[in-house]
Amino acid sequence: MTEPFSLYLHIPFCTAKCGYCDFNSYAGQDHLIPNYSDALVQEARLWRKATQGRAVATVFFGGGTPSLMPIDEFASIMAGVRGAFDVAPDAEISLEANPGSLDEVYLRGLLELGVNRLSIGVQSFHNDELSDLDRIHSSADAGAAFEAARAAGFRNVSLDLIFGLPDQPLERWQHSVEEALRLDPEHISLYALTVEAGTPLARSVARGRTPAPVPDAQADQYEWTVERLCSTDFEHYEISNWAKEGFRCLHNLTYWQCRDYLGLGAGAHSYLDGVRFATAALPDRYVALVNESSEAAGQATEGGAGDTPMRQVVTGETMTPELEISDTLILGLRLTQGVSLTAFEERFGVGVMDAAGDAVRASIDDGLAEIADGHVRLTARGRMLGNEVFERLLPEG
Ligand code: SF4
Repeated sequence: MTEPFSLYLHIPFCTAKCGYCDFNSYAGQDHLIPNYSDALVQEARLWRKATQGRAVATVFFGGGTPSLMPIDEFASIMAGVRGAFDVAPDAEISLEANPGSLDEVYLRGLLELGVNRLSIGVQSFHNDELSDLDRIHSSADAGAAFEAARAAGFRNVSLDLIFGLPDQPLERWQHSVEEALRLDPEHISLYALTVEAGTPLARSVARGRTPAPVPDAQADQYEWTVERLCSTDFEHYEISNWAKEGFRCLHNLTYWQCRDYLGLGAGAHSYLDGVRFATAALPDRYVALVNESSEAAGQATEGGAGDTPMRQVVTGETMTPELEISDTLILGLRLTQGVSLTAFEERFGVGVMDAAGDAVRASIDDGLAEIADGHVRLTARGRMLGNEVFERLLPEG
């Protein structure tokens, strides 16, 4: 296989854990950072042989809070990544960052290491909402982080916001969107607050201390936002994502187009050569298992998948055609352009209507999907009720 792939690196450290967050992230574990950085580099080396001959088209540092990592740790991780993989000269290299952990000197350091896209987790431009979300930064910090990114030289910046907070009036959400637009980023990601099982937010909602998000209010906010951003030069290219021309997130497109990616780090997921797998979630266990793999491989630099134990990989599943078809449709329908009927047939040797005719027809009948311009895609209503379509497309059993 010579097709390029994408590389994800998970940085699981956070200063404090936000009440709504169920990501694989941990507060109070910063002492692990040096060993964790080493493990990432070792893991990259372990994968070198298995990915030889394939370029890395995008690199994404996600978390957690990647911007908590000291710049010298990033330097050694980037050197390790470049040593192990053939990173394309024009690769998109993104980093998720939180306001409050960014200054211009640090940001210049990132740029020098090749990071060329920054995704800032703003979430809200209201201090009381930020505090309700347990975010440790202020609205002013978000603006300052954005200005610092510009001053450092970042020309591709995305802002993340969360809507549908408990009791959040439409006007307050509108203010956050307007503030984001005023900063004039290249990309905006907007997510509805969801109550994830096991989080402090879920417990607070269950005890009646926090009102649950109201789906109708979230739908109103989403509808207003779609209209507002469509009146600007942002293109709504994915259910939750808007970009100016030429600034779609290429890394995330890999996921939505169901193409290969390799995830390094604690709890990272991969989809490579027809196999879906994940690594150990706890950072210290991940580090220990990568060390074991490297030792077992003798010289990690000489190793590679196939003849190297990958002990950090703890779950795996070989994809069946049914699973791949389901993933391709569910992820592809998140994109405004939808799934190309021709590309689908070329990939699977069967047409969309032969592979998933019942689910597609039912969604068309409900006004949630359509076939147009050689694509199957969600309608505007379908983008708000996407889960109804996606559930129909899940493989049986
Ligand atoms: S900063 Fe992000 S990853 Fe960390 S706890 Fe908050 S939401 Fe989760």
